[in-house]
Amino acid sequence: MLLGLLTSVVIYHTGNSIAAKTQGLITQKLPTYDLLRQLNNDVIEQERFLYEFYATEDFAQFNSGYKKTKTSVQLALAKLTEEFGPIPPLRSAEKGLFEFDQTTDAFIDNISSPATNWSLAREHLQQLSVTRSEITPQIQTLIRLTQSDVSTEQKDISLALDKVSFFVVFYALATMVVVYSIMRAWKAYIASAAHSERLSLFPKRNPNPVISLDVNNQVTFSNPASDKFLEKIGHTKGQAHLLLANNIKHYQQAILTDENLDSMMFEYAIADRFVQCEIHWLNDQQQWDIHLTDITSRKQVEKELKYRASHDPDTGLKKRHELQKAVVELSVEKNSFCFGVVEIRSYGQLVSTNGLTTASEVVKQVGLSLQYLVTHDTQHSLEAYRIGEKSFALLVSDSHEIIPSLIQDIDSYIDEQDFSHQYQVKLDYGFACYPMHGGEYAELHINAMAALDRSARTNDKSFVVFDPELGAKLAYQQQLTVDLVKAISLQEFELYFQPQLSLHTRQIIGAEVLIRWQRNGQWVSPAEFIPLAESAGLIVELGDWILQTACEKARSYFSDSYQNAVVAVNISPLQFGRPDFLDKVRDVLKTSGLAPKNLELEITEGVIIYNEQETIDTLVALKELGVKLAIDDFGTGYSSLSYLKKFDIDKLKIDQSFIRSIQIDRADQSIVRTIIELGRNFELQLIAEGVEEQSQLNLLKSMGCDEIQGYFFSRPLPEADFEQFLAKYDQQR
Ligand code: C2E
Ligand code: MG
Ligand code: MG
Repeated sequence: MLLGLLTSVVIYHTGNSIAAKTQGLITQKLPTYDLLRQLNNDVIEQERFLYEFYATEDFAQFNSGYKKTKTSVQLALAKLTEEFGPIPPLRSAEKGLFEFDQTTDAFIDNISSPATNWSLAREHLQQLSVTRSEITPQIQTLIRLTQSDVSTEQKDISLALDKVSFFVVFYALATMVVVYSIMRAWKAYIASAAHSERLSLFPKRNPNPVISLDVNNQVTFSNPASDKFLEKIGHTKGQAHLLLANNIKHYQQAILTDENLDSMMFEYAIADRFVQCEIHWLNDQQQWDIHLTDITSRKQVEKELKYRASHDPDTGLKKRHELQKAVVELSVEKNSFCFGVVEIRSYGQLVSTNGLTTASEVVKQVGLSLQYLVTHDTQHSLEAYRIGEKSFALLVSDSHEIIPSLIQDIDSYIDEQDFSHQYQVKLDYGFACYPMHGGEYAELHINAMAALDRSARTNDKSFVVFDPELGAKLAYQQQLTVDLVKAISLQEFELYFQPQLSLHTRQIIGAEVLIRWQRNGQWVSPAEFIPLAESAGLIVELGDWILQTACEKARSYFSDSYQNAVVAVNISPLQFGRPDFLDKVRDVLKTSGLAPKNLELEITEGVIIYNEQETIDTLVALKELGVKLAIDDFGTGYSSLSYLKKFDIDKLKIDQSFIRSIQIDRADQSIVRTIIELGRNFELQLIAEGVEEQSQLNLLKSMGCDEIQGYFFSRPLPEADFEQFLAKYDQQR
């Protein structure tokens, strides 16, 4: 403002001086300048008029022009005297003009007289020219004087104008700078004001409780969220100290004693809620700041996840690793206890008659029943666990004598339940007791499983307690497994081929490959060692060898006469489930040179019943490759035909157990008939296994069965015999 005032005063004064100077210039200097120039012209004109008069002697014309200029000269002189005062050039000009007038008068008189003296007239004219030439410089001097005055005035005005412009520009710039600085300062002020406002409002607006304590742990501040939280847990407002952890001093002490620590975080429960507390020591303010966060829902999720990790969500029973932990704990205490494994009897039949959904529901109900018994039975100190899809485990902290009464209690409770209208649930139990049957979890589990296996195979017994005889079987199996490893590395196996016959064309339509193993000069049944190879993880290596060898042999046997014959290779579920199985098949076909249509893979229902996406993908890819697929031992597993629709299966192999007594057993006949009819509906080829007699063959043929395999047509043959068999059969036809 001061600057503006100052600048205005300067501009006002300068403006005034410009105005005054401009006025003087316009009203005085410029007219004087014009007057002088006019005077100069008038004098020259007068001289001209005189010369013309001399030449023409026309007084009238001379007088009118001369008089005008003379009056103008006199007026000019008067004005100039007023303007300049008695300055020398003006005085000289006046004097010259006076002389000029006098000479003029004499000249006029002479010319106008009747006896004009012409030489005098010429003298006069000369005299006049001299005088005029003396006047003109004086007038010029006066003109210059005026000019110099005008230019001085001009300079002054221009300087003054510059001054005004400078001040105006300076003022404008100064105003801009001042306004900019003010704006910046204002903005910074507003920002800092908002920041401090926000800071001061932060705890107030914080949705979580914020509490400040003084050095004596007295609450000095608590925000509205603290009151809300207090109300949530049933207290009244303003009692923020109730939100503090009981052991808060412990954390305060830790912070105060460690100079690198100024805050700590811990969790605790308040009423039915959990909070996370962050405590800060503000040394400069000698104050504790406490921030609480309600973490109840997070804790609940964590609890739920922890529960799910250790418990089966269907039944609420603990899972397998909880069982392992419990066994370790009990064995450390050295008290005797019994370890039981429980499964539903004939689970496969349950699945095939009622479907997987119902079967799973039954398993769940059994689990819930066990859970109920665990919580309500105080007699046996029983614990139950879910250890697999369809299996449970029991731990009884007692000796094995307790087992029969325990089983009776469980069975009678299960009998009372109405799980499924069509199915009477029966359980199989296998027990191994500590320390008699094993000192560690693994051993107890294996032995209990062996006992369960025995129980499942015997119809009369629902439970089996492990005994040394079972142990001997286990030992034998262990030895067999060791020998199997050796046999694989030494390639002690042979492949036998069992021809398959078409009942329509009476042609050999293929052969099933069956592995043979001579151990110490004794044949071991594949039914015995294949399951062992599977459980010992040896089946993949063995299976690869079988597949490769079978395809190589088939390539050489299936010459022109057997172009469409298939070599049927048994594939173990473990082998099939390998991610590289498809690549293996591709490789084998490539290296052996066997056409895909000549290879048939025999898989069991178990492979596809659970419809794992990988299984489905592999089956689809195999079909795309051109390989044939057969379901082996059909009728013994889940026998659910609905899944056959989903998969592009080529053939069903009716299990030999239905063929064995088909001539006499009506039930078997009706099962086989149904399988054949269903197979037809799905456009599947049907082959009967284990056909030993003509009567069986006739019956199957009348039922519409397509093919047979069995001792009646041929036993499984060693390679050389098989080759001969093919050649001979070809010749006979
Ligand atoms: P499978 O695949 O159902 O094989 C048919 C079984 O029935 C063979 O027993 C065969 O010798 C036998 N058999 C054939 N015709 C008759 C007959 O007329 N009467 C009777 N009583 N039996 C007959 P084997 O060779 O002892 O094989 C038993 C099982 O071992 C096979 O059942 C199959 O599951 C498995 N197995 C055999 N060889 C292999 C193999 O190379 N790989 C795999 N993964 N498993 C194999
Ligand atoms: Mg087979
Ligand atoms: Mg079979």
